[in-house]
Amino acid sequence: MNGSTSAALQDLVDLTRFGPRFHGDRGIHDAADWIESRLSTAGLHVRRQAVTLPAWEPGSANTLRVTAPIDREMPVWPMLWSGSSDGVVTGHLRPLGPQGIWGDSITWQRFIVEDENGASLAYVHARDIGPAAPQPLPHGSDLTLPHLVVGRLDGMQLREWVTSGKDVTVMLQGDSGPVGDPAIADNLIVDIPGTGEGTVLVCAHYDTFYNTVGAYDNGSGTVALLRLAEQWAAKPPSRSVRMVWFTAEEWHLGGSRHYVDSSTDSELAELDYVLNVDGLGRGSFLETFASPEEFGHALHCAVGQYASDTGRALETVNRFPPTTGTDDASFYRAGVPSVFMTFNDLHRLHQPDDLPNAGIAANIVWAQGLVERLVALSSPRRVGRPGIL
Ligand SMILES: [Zn+2]
Repeated sequence: MNGSTSAALQDLVDLTRFGPRFHGDRGIHDAADWIESRLSTAGLHVRRQAVTLPAWEPGSANTLRVTAPIDREMPVWPMLWSGSSDGVVTGHLRPLGPQGIWGDSITWQRFIVEDENGASLAYVHARDIGPAAPQPLPHGSDLTLPHLVVGRLDGMQLREWVTSGKDVTVMLQGDSGPVGDPAIADNLIVDIPGTGEGTVLVCAHYDTFYNTVGAYDNGSGTVALLRLAEQWAAKPPSRSVRMVWFTAEEWHLGGSRHYVDSSTDSELAELDYVLNVDGLGRGSFLETFASPEEFGHALHCAVGQYASDTGRALETVNRFPPTTGTDDASFYRAGVPSVFMTFNDLHRLHQPDDLPNAGIAANIVWAQGLVERLVALSSPRRVGRPGIL
C-alpha cells in the first residue's frame, strides 16, 4: 500500500469509528464535527445547513420465519419508514409482483402477508441481488404495516413456492416506526475560490443507513472530498468549487432536496454542473451517468482517458438518463446539469460488513485524481427541469 492509500484508509477508519451515521443520530453529529475540524485545520470555513425530517427508528425485533412448506428463519431488515406489527403475527404470503426502488433503477419482488380473513398484515420485499439490504420505501407506501426485506436467494425460494401453488405461511414481527422528536443533522458546505471562471458543485453524502458504518457507502466519497478540499485549500483549482457533504441521502435525498429547495434560481444558475461521488467500493467496475446526454459522453471519454493515463484496467459503463437514487437527482430535477460516479459494491451495500479496507482506500485515491479532471470539463448546455422523471 502506498502512502496516499494508507492515509485514505486511516481517514476511513477515523470516520467509521463514530458508528452508523444515520440521519439525526449521534454518529452523524460526531462525524460532522470531525469533518469540520479537518476542514478548519486546512483553513477552510464550513457553513452548516440544518436538515429537519420526521424521525423514524428501525427497532430491534424485526423477524420473519417461514413455517410452511418448511420451517426456516429468513434474515430481514426493515425498510426505512416501515411500520410495526402488533407483536408476532401469522399469515399467508401472496405474490404481488415487481417493485421499482428509486424509480426503476432497481427492481425487487413484492409480497403481501394476509391473515385468514384476507386482512393485510405486512409486506415482504425481495432484493434483486445479494443479501437483504434496507432501502427507503417508495412514496405512497402503507406505513402502518411492517415492510421487511429478504435477500435474493430467500426471495427466489418464496417465489418458487408461491408460483408453484404452495401455501406459504409465515410468522413475522416488525417494530419500526416514527418517533416523536424530529431528526436533525447538517449539510456541510465549503467554498473554494478558483483562479479562473465558473463554479462546479462537488458533493458526497456522509450519512449511512441505520445498520452500517458505511465505509464504501459513503465514507469513501466523504473522505475523497475531504482530501480534495485539503489539497485545493493549498493549491486552488481553476474553476471555483463548492463542496457539499449531504446528510439524509439515504432518506430519499432529504439533504440535497433541502439544499436545492433553499437555493434561489440564480444560485442554481451559477453552477456549471454538479458532480456527485457516491460509493467508491472495491473493484474496477465504474458506473457513471450524467445529464444532458452529450455531457455523459464527454464524461465517459474523460474517464477512459484518465484510466489509460493511470494505467488502470477499468470496466466502465455510462447510463442515461440519471437514476433518481442519489443526490445528483435533486439537481437534475431542478434543471442543473449533473454527473454521478460510483464503484458499485452491491454485496456490501447497506450491510454491517461495509467496513474500511484497502480496496476502497485505493479507489478513493484514484477517484480524487479523476474528480480533479472532471471539475475542468467544459460547461454543458442547460436543458431545464424535466417534465417527467
Ligand atoms: Zn450512497
